[in-house]
Amino acid sequence: MARYTDPVCRLCRREGEKLYLKGERCYSDKCAIVRKPVAPGQHGQSRKKVSEYGLQLRAKQKAKRTYGLMEKQFRSYFERAERMRGITGENLLQMLERRLDNTVYRLGFASSRAQARQFVRHGHILVDGKRVNIPSYLVDTNQTISVAQKSLDKMDHFKMVREEADKTVPEWLQVDFDKLEGIVSHLPARDEIDTPVEEHLIVELYSK
Ligand code: SF4
Repeated sequence: MARYTDPVCRLCRREGEKLYLKGERCYSDKCAIVRKPVAPGQHGQSRKKVSEYGLQLRAKQKAKRTYGLMEKQFRSYFERAERMRGITGENLLQMLERRLDNTVYRLGFASSRAQARQFVRHGHILVDGKRVNIPSYLVDTNQTISVAQKSLDKMDHFKMVREEADKTVPEWLQVDFDKLEGIVSHLPARDEIDTPVEEHLIVELYSK
């Protein structure tokens, strides 16, 4: 699967806001949005009037970049969302939230979606007690997401997460920080997804 490998802070600067792609650094004063809050490139500082198409494109890019997806993958989520019952934009966001890498991040087991993806790929994450190493796996209601015992014992990162039991998680998840185990109590509703994306703009863009 193709991946974006250039510096990710450029993506935040391009969108003009924090996308929280780098974990702890995003909350520090080393964040590029704090240090250099202009779009990257020669014309980054120029202010242009943004067209309707421009707004739609930016909304799509922001969602795609937030969840760490490439165009083809994002588009196929949209096409699936369109075929589902209900509101396409909300279906799209719900599917993106249900990705296993995003769920691990939302549970607080990883400091960024990129780190969560790596944990999944490297086999540290179990779903209902079975190893699942596919970041795009969609979690479902009542499924349990946990960290493999071997990883819990060996990795300082997970020991640290265990000790920080004051993390808050979205309402659609429940977590036991002692066991590092989370449960999907229900599928995320739109108002439980705090990703700052206007999904109707994405629908408008792809419906042209
Ligand atoms: Fe974005 Fe994080 Fe980089 Fe800040 S540190 S620009 S929030 S990826």
